[in-house]
Amino acid sequence: MKVMPKKKKPDKSSDVNIFQILTETAEKEKKKRREELLAPLGIKEFFVEGKITIDKRTCKGLECKLCIKACPTNALFWKSGEVGITEDLCIYCGSCILNCIVDDCIKIMRKRQNGQTERFSKPKDFVTLQHGICARKRFERINDVFPKPETYLEKYKSK
Ligand code: SF4
Ligand code: SF4
Repeated sequence: MKVMPKKKKPDKSSDVNIFQILTETAEKEKKKRREELLAPLGIKEFFVEGKITIDKRTCKGLECKLCIKACPTNALFWKSGEVGITEDLCIYCGSCILNCIVDDCIKIMRKRQNGQTERFSKPKDFVTLQHGICARKRFERINDVFPKPETYLEKYKSK
């Protein structure tokens, strides 16, 4: 009786590598495209990644369009009776949410370089978030400008 050769199992590790390579290439291309689009505007990116969505069911569209006027990069536009988004131009600044007349209509998720993720969809939440960021920056600045008590003590001891 003829023995049939065993079928070789597919190498799953090579599948993962190809998938990883494709994802990394797509991310690099996206980053390059964003840099090219944002460079003429002189806008610096603060977030390593992000996502913005607009709920077309609750958006007041035609009678509003405030987000389009508020967007500093022209990432939002009016087309075919609704607000469109050019994702490559969005820097997740939150200006559109701050001006939106409908809570939870625009949703933003953004990730900072330190890995911290922020999500907001209401002007109130955005203001609270910004207050927290400013307070933290003030605290860090004070620590930079004024030496700690231990530093004073060390200085006093050495005299
Ligand atoms: S988050 Fe900022 S850049 Fe992005 S669409 Fe809203 S206003 Fe424009
Ligand atoms: S500001 Fe809000 S409600 Fe107004 S058009 Fe933009 S997404 Fe729609």
